[in-house]
Amino acid sequence: MFDLNNLLRDNIKRLVPYSSARDEFKGEASIFLDANENSFGSPLPRAYHRYPDPLQWKVKYRLADIKGVPPQNIFLGNGSDEAIDILFRAFCRPGIDNVVLCPPTYGMYEVSANINDVTVRKATLTADFQLDLDAIQAAIDENTKLIFICSPNNPTANAIRKEDIEVILNNFEGIVVVDEAYINFSRQKTLIQELTEYPNLVILQTLSKAWGLAALRVGMAFAGEDIIDIFNKIKPPYNINQASQELALEALNNIDQVNGWIRETVQERGKLEQTLQQLPIVQQVYPSDANFLLVKTVDAKGIYNKLVEQGIIVRDRSRVELCAGCLRITIGTPEENITLLNALKNMTL
Ligand SMILES: *Cc1c(COP(=O)(O)O)cnc(C)c1O
Repeated sequence: MFDLNNLLRDNIKRLVPYSSARDEFKGEASIFLDANENSFGSPLPRAYHRYPDPLQWKVKYRLADIKGVPPQNIFLGNGSDEAIDILFRAFCRPGIDNVVLCPPTYGMYEVSANINDVTVRKATLTADFQLDLDAIQAAIDENTKLIFICSPNNPTANAIRKEDIEVILNNFEGIVVVDEAYINFSRQKTLIQELTEYPNLVILQTLSKAWGLAALRVGMAFAGEDIIDIFNKIKPPYNINQASQELALEALNNIDQVNGWIRETVQERGKLEQTLQQLPIVQQVYPSDANFLLVKTVDAKGIYNKLVEQGIIVRDRSRVELCAGCLRITIGTPEENITLLNALKNMTL
């Protein structure tokens, strides 16, 4: 049975969180002399002299509407990377506990594990980039606290079968983290509606990809309220700055523009996939549920260098396991994609 109290580190269970001025007085007032801010104002056209809302409720209420989940089930981090780091600090005892990763996948999970001195156990994906359930089972022991599943997966671009994720959710007593950074581009649906069914599920999403706000650094975690409370206890008090909160809220009110870009990206993805497949330097274009393509080529390094010479930068993933010969190519604007394809068509290696 899943028991959050058994999973939590003792120091986090005992932790008395920092209590900020904004925590201690929350109502309306006319004179605020409680936080040592500059009472005169800020040297900017917009007011930035007050500390921001530590729990970012305005942004969360808007997100709650969009995502169909109560605001109490949302955590906002300084990028998803902050949520990933907090998961390690909440659940993994340095030098004792371990986590299971399914490579090839997003590099930050392993970096965050290393920073926190947590052992990584690897269950490599199958040849068709799906979960190897037997390998995952074999990797789990009594000190395994987290399993990270990235779907759609970076860098392989495919969505992970939902039935396989549910097998893990039903059988693993630790936390299952499903990273849905690319979910907006996927044929597969988000697992957010499954949160009520699985107390051990944490879903990560981000404003950095489809929402076009990578520079604002706003990542989201969706989970049961008891897990969200732990995130909030650990996070720095003002982890999302006022400018990011205001701009995120403004952007979330422009959902139609974003949905238009998503449709266009998916269309371009199809065209790019078809055209790439016909090039002699391309051996295989893997199916994509994301805003990028994983492309197996005859010479990844050579093609990469030739593209750099023309001012076009893609990602060389050829040294990543299961990705020999592969480049990861982000879907560009129609004009960018044409330029890329022309460069590849005319390339002599
Ligand atoms: C890009 C990406 C993220 C986003 O991280 P942020 O810190 O929110 O910008 C998260 N997970 C995966 C798999 C990604 O590729």
